[in-house]
Amino acid sequence: MHQPTTEPRPSIYYTYRVFQPWLPSAHPPQSRHPVAIAGSGPAGMVTALELARHGVRSVVLTPELQFSQGSRAICFTRRSMEILQQVGVADLMTEGGLPWRFGNSYYRGQRVFRMEAPHDADDRFFPIINVQQQYMEEYLHDACAAHPLIDFRWGNKVTQVTQRDGYAEVRVDTPEGEYTLQADWLVAADGGRSPIRTAMNLQMEGASYEGFFVIADIQIDLPLPTERLAFFDPEWNPGNTILMHREPHGIWRVDYQLPPGETPEDALRPESLKARINAQLKMIGHAGVPWEMDWCSVYSARTLTLPDYVHGSVIFTGDAAHLLPIFGVRGANTAFQDAQSLGWHLAYVV
Ligand SMILES: Cc1cc2nc3c(=O)[nH]c(=O)nc-3n(C[C@H](O)[C@H](O)[C@H](O)COP(=O)(O)OP(=O)(O)OC[C@H]3O[C@@H](n4cnc5c(N)ncnc54)[C@H](O)[C@@H]3O)c2cc1C
Repeated sequence: MHQPTTEPRPSIYYTYRVFQPWLPSAHPPQSRHPVAIAGSGPAGMVTALELARHGVRSVVLTPELQFSQGSRAICFTRRSMEILQQVGVADLMTEGGLPWRFGNSYYRGQRVFRMEAPHDADDRFFPIINVQQQYMEEYLHDACAAHPLIDFRWGNKVTQVTQRDGYAEVRVDTPEGEYTLQADWLVAADGGRSPIRTAMNLQMEGASYEGFFVIADIQIDLPLPTERLAFFDPEWNPGNTILMHREPHGIWRVDYQLPPGETPEDALRPESLKARINAQLKMIGHAGVPWEMDWCSVYSARTLTLPDYVHGSVIFTGDAAHLLPIFGVRGANTAFQDAQSLGWHLAYVV
């Protein structure tokens, strides 16, 4: 029996809501669905909203009871905002977000490049806007929950998929046990580790790169504008790179490359995080400014894709279909483009 955690996730700036699970006993038996979507990340929710916009019903299945742990995707492109406008959440993103269009690149302490992304007074959206992923997921979820064509099921984990003649049979585990759901189409938007991809024994192609990066979100008051900062071969981290981004709610992201051979476990030790973040603050002239850690994680770069995204009645999308290095604002931005395209194509087929 799937028992999702009901303890609210920790965060300095975001209060996690814990939703009630959808239980089969509280609902009458249902006939076959036109579309079921496994996963309530950006890919899953935008697919549901796009389908609904074209009049197609869907069921969204998600094992969790809360939004994304930690900020994860924070930089959203103008194209993403156009897609989010189509599904009705662009105003909320704009209200809470920090727009920007300048970037500064430093090599060994010297500024060597200033990026200026074009922005015209007639442009509706900035080239990039920073919003933490929990907020983006909250806005998308609330739009899904308000839509009569979307049946959103918290606490519902897909455990098995069987391809039948022209439809998929999906086993779903809930806090009160399993049930079976039939769908003409199953959209696998179940993330980078996609359990559905693994269960179907599908292999991704491409490359995984050596080397790790730490992402640390800290609460700190820095008198700096919302501009991307990139440091190459800096004095405290020779041969490596560091990125900094301002996030809403007084948070800054410090994203630094680890020296070869250092393990993620070592890098996430509190002493190690503290020493490196203090070194970075010192380098940019803000030594001693008090800060508090909100969330940290380690990632590595991968360029992997499934050779085909459609397998019988199962369609892979977002990170379940392909994994891109997250620098260069790929990941969630790519997932939106997938979902926007899949939404109208699938609606047309249905
Ligand atoms: C540290 C970090 C920083 C990032 N920074 C950026 C950035 O700045 N910009 C950017 O664009 N991207 C960024 N990304 C990437 C971005 O977060 C992902 O690319 C994006 O969330 C992918 O969306 P998705 O919907 O495909 O998958 P996910 O968001 O991973 O969602 C997967 C969903 O599937 C669900 N699921 C899992 N198993 C099952 C199951 N058995 N049954 C049903 N559902 C299941 C999960 O609960 C979840 O709801 C970052 C990621 C990380 C980790």
